[in-house]
Amino acid sequence: MTEPTPEGRRRYPHTQGYFPDPAQIEAAPDRELPCTCVHGCPSRCAGECGCKACEQAFAEFCDVAGFYGPGEFDEAAALAAYREVHAHGRVPSRTDA
Ligand SMILES: [Zn+2]
Ligand SMILES: [Zn+2]
Repeated sequence: MTEPTPEGRRRYPHTQGYFPDPAQIEAAPDRELPCTCVHGCPSRCAGECGCKACEQAFAEFCDVAGFYGPGEFDEAAALAAYREVHAHGRVPSRTDA
């Protein structure tokens, strides 16, 4: 079984470096999905490094954001949106202008 890297533990501090298991009510580590990110990974890694936890996080983001629609999956657009959310620390909104 793969262990989370120190960087993985930093990214998922509540679940000891694993992706949170959505089947659990409280933050529980999903031991199938360790974060194996390294220090050079983007802060919103989408699993490019082979990290299963961040790949899952990106997949869930795409699902919630509606990128898995009936049309073709636009990975470049999804990735850009995924990184954009991080850049602002939240989903962009115009309500606080
Ligand atoms: Zn990761
Ligand atoms: Zn990574």
